Amino acid sequence: MMNKEKGWNFDNSYERLPKSFFTSHNPTSVLAPKLIILNEPLAESLGLNVEEMQSEDGVAVFAGNRIPEGASPLAQAYAGHQFGHFTMLGDGRAVLLGEQITPSGERVDIQLKGPGRTPYSRGGDGRAALGPMLREYIISEAMHALGIPTTRSLAVVATGEAVIRETALPGAILTRVAASHLRVGTFQYVAKWGSVEELQILADYTIKRHYPDIEADENRYLSLLQEVIKRQAALIAKWQLVGFIHGVMNTDNMTISGETIDYGPCAFMDAYDPATVFSSIDRQGRYAYDNQPYMAGWNLARFAETLLPLLHDKQEQAVELAQDAISNFSKLYQANWLEGMRAKLGIFNEEIEDESLINDLLTLMEKNQADYTNTFRALTYDKREEIDLFGIPEFSQWYELWQARLSRQEESKASVQQLMRNSNPAVIPRNHRVEEALEAAVEQGDYSVMERLLNVLSKPYAYTPEKKDYCTLPAPSNQPYRTFCGT
Ligand code: AMP
Ligand code: MG
Repeated sequence: MMNKEKGWNFDNSYERLPKSFFTSHNPTSVLAPKLIILNEPLAESLGLNVEEMQSEDGVAVFAGNRIPEGASPLAQAYAGHQFGHFTMLGDGRAVLLGEQITPSGERVDIQLKGPGRTPYSRGGDGRAALGPMLREYIISEAMHALGIPTTRSLAVVATGEAVIRETALPGAILTRVAASHLRVGTFQYVAKWGSVEELQILADYTIKRHYPDIEADENRYLSLLQEVIKRQAALIAKWQLVGFIHGVMNTDNMTISGETIDYGPCAFMDAYDPATVFSSIDRQGRYAYDNQPYMAGWNLARFAETLLPLLHDKQEQAVELAQDAISNFSKLYQANWLEGMRAKLGIFNEEIEDESLINDLLTLMEKNQADYTNTFRALTYDKREEIDLFGIPEFSQWYELWQARLSRQEESKASVQQLMRNSNPAVIPRNHRVEEALEAAVEQGDYSVMERLLNVLSKPYAYTPEKKDYCTLPAPSNQPYRTFCGT
């Protein structure tokens, strides 16, 4: 249903699924909505009229105070393994307004995060605080600019109401745009509490929405599993390559589309340390940097389990098919990672020893607490003196080996540098920069710091002089950086 003036163009396919998959539910109105930020380029690509979105009526939509024409709000049901424990969840602080059909014919979910309690809320208030919503905005948009599949952030509005956490904080609502909100946890919910027919409906819906090419495959459910595994292997490799730590890779936070979702306690690594954990609740390091590929495989095994009744009539054979598919994940991941690492070092062709060349550099970085992003950037721009490892004899040896490796390929120095420039971000959302932007925004109502940061992060691979400030490391601190779930 096209609403010409504003550009909303909803078609709500999820609502046509079995009623047990969701609960129709409207957002709860808020007192005094104020637009904090609108993602204009994203709004335009969705076919939305930017001016209208900034008007009182437009902002009322992002606040949950007005339902746009054609929307049909609902909260989705899902389950999930949270830190390994299976539980019923569902949208406890989110409402899906509907699916926007974009001018290019894409279908995307438009979801409000923080619009009040829903039937799935359990103990929480269904609300969100301004700081964490702006944090999701900054980091998801940075991920997008880095070329990493992710949900996007369309707008943040302040609600004019306080949310009570440890203290009272200003409330806000984020409008999130996603290929869909289908999660491993959605399948877990239907597999556990629904019928096999419902499971098949969900799987067919997913295939149609995200993997239409496999619709005619002989065993399309096996193809679905294989395709999701492929996308996740590619996604997690991309995280590792930029030093992104998700922080809460529960099965409800793993999408079937292959997008990164749920920016709670995530953060980027500074000094290279595979054991890095930022989240204050991840005490065991379950979701530590170097555990992410393993945990992704674990989540995908849970996904495979949900599909068993569809994979084969005989359980034994279904299990065998699932296991084969799952065992492929680590190979696919490793191949993606190696390809990405070769590119980070300007390597075009393949040699068996590449992996040890890469690992030797990482070991040196770990031993000397070298900054991950800055090391690769300095190698890219041949600024050896800027590398934390400069002057260390083992590094000089490694550097010679690397140079010799580069000379064993045909590509020119210029193409090597081009490949490295495209593979090594000059800037990432450094934790202290993100905190500084949030503090100015939340404490002083000054959004200029965040706007500058967003601007720099929108072209992360280009190393321009004004970026220099954004590459510097935080002042040394006795306290390691900690993140919180942001509920
Ligand atoms: P998350 O940690 O954001 O993945 O959320 C896990 C579950 O907790 C989901 O079911 C959320 O909807 C729910 N949840 C998180 N925060 C709140 C809140 N403030 N009120 C109600 N439910 C919440
Ligand atoms: Mg979640």
